[in-house]
Amino acid sequence: MTTAPSPARALLQRYATSAPRYTSYPTAVDWSKDFDPTCYGDLLRTAATSAELLSLYVHLPYCAELCLFCGCNVVVSRSRDRADRYLDALEREVEFVAASGIGQRTVSQYHWGGGTPTQIKLDQMKRVHAAIAKAFHFAPDAEIAIEVDPRVTTKDQIQWLAETGFNRVSMGVQDFEPDVQKAIKRVQSEAQTRAVIDAARQFGIGSVNIDLIYGLPFQTLAGFERTVQRVLDIRPERVALFHYAHVPWMKKHQTALDLEAVPSSDAKLTIFLRALEMFQAAGYAYIGLDHFALPDDELARAKDDGILQRNFMGYTTRRGGDMISLGMSSIGEVAGAFAQNAHTEAEYLRLVKERGYATFRGHQQSAEDRLRRDVILGLMCNLVLDTRAVGALHGIDFDQHFALELEELKPLQADGLVELNPGSIRVTPLGQLFLRNVALPFDAYYRARQAKGGDGQRTFSRTL
Ligand code: SF4
Repeated sequence: MTTAPSPARALLQRYATSAPRYTSYPTAVDWSKDFDPTCYGDLLRTAATSAELLSLYVHLPYCAELCLFCGCNVVVSRSRDRADRYLDALEREVEFVAASGIGQRTVSQYHWGGGTPTQIKLDQMKRVHAAIAKAFHFAPDAEIAIEVDPRVTTKDQIQWLAETGFNRVSMGVQDFEPDVQKAIKRVQSEAQTRAVIDAARQFGIGSVNIDLIYGLPFQTLAGFERTVQRVLDIRPERVALFHYAHVPWMKKHQTALDLEAVPSSDAKLTIFLRALEMFQAAGYAYIGLDHFALPDDELARAKDDGILQRNFMGYTTRRGGDMISLGMSSIGEVAGAFAQNAHTEAEYLRLVKERGYATFRGHQQSAEDRLRRDVILGLMCNLVLDTRAVGALHGIDFDQHFALELEELKPLQADGLVELNPGSIRVTPLGQLFLRNVALPFDAYYRARQAKGGDGQRTFSRTL
């Protein structure tokens, strides 16, 4: 593969590391071990008294087969009965949550993820939504999104989603090249992808997102250029371009991937920079770490207005103060605490049967956590931080409190990645490629782990 010279290349290789993606701070590996999961009901009742907008996530874990690169929490099953038993538990969990009174808050963001939410049948999808709609009410402009798999999604499902108010569909493509698809065990034709997108547009679903992954076996620059061009021809409102996260210590099936065929770091970088160039040349705004959006998409507008947010669903414009998450392995944030449900289907069913909810671990955020989260997510989302405003909000002198962190950012400033000014930290356009590196100095847990000799290699995925 040819490698075009780039000012970013040497820097990317120098800064390549293993680091969190910061959909939350602290990340789940750093949650305190002494969190009492049985406090979940109290947290919900506290949260019920707030008037802030609410986010809602529903995890539907079933997939027809397992893609080898997958990092999600999935259950490989086509059994209707099995899904019905899961939906029984989900309904019970919704009832438990609703009993707290939290349904009086208005939902501004509602998302079905998985797994493959459209793997279950249409009547089962209706059942899930009926339970939710009975317990919650939605803002008129709520973002209502779902992940669909074009290989299993029917036109009837899409029509129902549109009629029910879903206004965004998101789907994995990863790569259109046949040899790559074969190697990752996800064979999905362009025709299948287009059929679902055409149906979504026909029924009035206004926003389509496509996920791509680079760093997969047999990917080449020419092949990925073809994939990006085909995506550009479809012109989705949003594209996510993820670096393949190889975490076989958590996802054993990834060991079946042919690592010999994975492009080198240098080749991956060439692929990423070329894709970046193609999306930007086609008019897409580069958002945060790995997203692209058409200029009139609300994600691009929120970036321009400096109000972009980030939560467990990724980049968003609608982060309410709290997020209720339902279903196995889902992570919510309630009344200043993170709460995660049991990882496995069996444990989720058991806990919900026993007590109505399935929280098994969590983390009560400290004032220091909230401060550092505002700093990290502010940089990751809006690429600029008003350090005086953050200091005033949290009652600290920013420069004093973060003297060490600011010192550690100086080499990044020398490399042109950040600008450290009185009252602000600004990420440069070049620095946007290094967002995780810019955020890392502010991660007190990462620092503590390093001090103990850990380097995150077997905790987080590589940045390159
Ligand atoms: S369809 Fe999606 S969630 Fe299911 S195994 Fe493949 S990548 Fe994972």
